[in-house]
Amino acid sequence: MSDTISQALFERARAVIPGGVNSPVRAFRAVGGNPVFIARAKGARVFGEDGSEYVDYVGSWGPALLGHAHPDVIRAVQEAAEGGLSFGAPTSREVRFAEAVRALYPGIEKLRCVSSGTEATMSAIRVARGFTRRDVIVKFEGCYHGHADHLLVKAGSGLATFGVPDSGGVPEGTAKTTLTLAFNDIPALEALFAARGGEIAAVIVEPVVGNMGCVPPEPGFLEAIIALCRKHGALSIFDEVMTGCRLARGGAQERYGLRADLTTLGKIIGGGMPLAAYGGREDVMNVVAPLGPVYQAGTLSGNPVAVAAGLATIERLVPEVYEKVERLGAALEAGFKDAAAKAGVPATVQRVGSMITLFFNDKPVRSWAEASQSDTKRFATWHAGMLSRGIYWPPSQYEAAFLSAAHTDEDITRTVEAARASLS
Ligand code: PLP
Repeated sequence: MSDTISQALFERARAVIPGGVNSPVRAFRAVGGNPVFIARAKGARVFGEDGSEYVDYVGSWGPALLGHAHPDVIRAVQEAAEGGLSFGAPTSREVRFAEAVRALYPGIEKLRCVSSGTEATMSAIRVARGFTRRDVIVKFEGCYHGHADHLLVKAGSGLATFGVPDSGGVPEGTAKTTLTLAFNDIPALEALFAARGGEIAAVIVEPVVGNMGCVPPEPGFLEAIIALCRKHGALSIFDEVMTGCRLARGGAQERYGLRADLTTLGKIIGGGMPLAAYGGREDVMNVVAPLGPVYQAGTLSGNPVAVAAGLATIERLVPEVYEKVERLGAALEAGFKDAAAKAGVPATVQRVGSMITLFFNDKPVRSWAEASQSDTKRFATWHAGMLSRGIYWPPSQYEAAFLSAAHTDEDITRTVEAARASLS
């Protein structure tokens, strides 16, 4: 693809922004080539600065469940913006937003708005530590929970993409309070609790992992987290920044019929604006200032324009949205499996609802150890083939792709054809 405009912009960008991007995976390093600079997006399409058009499966890395620039969401944002961009004071809109989120998640009795998923998980951990008066947290290899110091240990997403086990700049003492286990390993979790249960403040998990590619929980794994936390006085934190409102209106917790002590949300609840939230049991959330001793704040928290986008989005999460993405997802999964089989390429397609990954791996992927066996060179070649055929797929083997309600049957057919051609 001779996208000279993106190439020129990338050169300028690299001179002024580290790596030319404001978030590492955007740089396309894992797949080679230059990133496409996006001029605008509408529905299931993104449009490059050179006028090129792509069927989009990145979906702004998750938020765009309704598709890009949904007219009702745009209208809500415009109306809110007319009334002022930020007040730093309570608003009726943020109360409605909090009530709307609480109505979706039975486990959320109280919640706080923040501006990013990172803030949500960072704050939830602080609350768990403040509530339990313990320091140790447990996370799972390959799960990404944002870029707070204590969560950048064996994390997925960009760290997995670039093969960085732990980030520089994180004090050793901080990293030491984070214990990591393999995702889906119930015996290891039981053994850890048996040995150090009294020290553990919280277990944080992506209930369906998206950040090492799409990896579902094995039956009983999430239940074991909740039960062991309860038994040992620790808190379960379901990081639903990605899965929230995506796998069902009430996220993975609705899909699997579970309830965590704390839940973190972002992406879809902000409708594409910088808005996220954390919440959970009332007794736990009551430790948050000004009620309790755990401090957490934000100049732009509950921003009126962001909240308007979030509310407009949540109001449109009707059952038809989930039925449609499930149907399209199943068709894409079947098409990919058939294409890989016919091409004789070892591949495993994993999908939960509208999250999907084509792993260049001949075995099912249940953990980071297994995900990391995937053939990333083959993925890079396939990705370039897809891009050249007008399909904008996440530029890493270790990122889930997202379907939206704006995708069509024709989009799926075109994508499967592109996949077939790119595999051969
Ligand atoms: N948690 C999960 C599960 C995520 O996928 C992400 C981002 O991709 C985050 C937290 C961090 O969110 P943000 O990028 O908004 O800080």
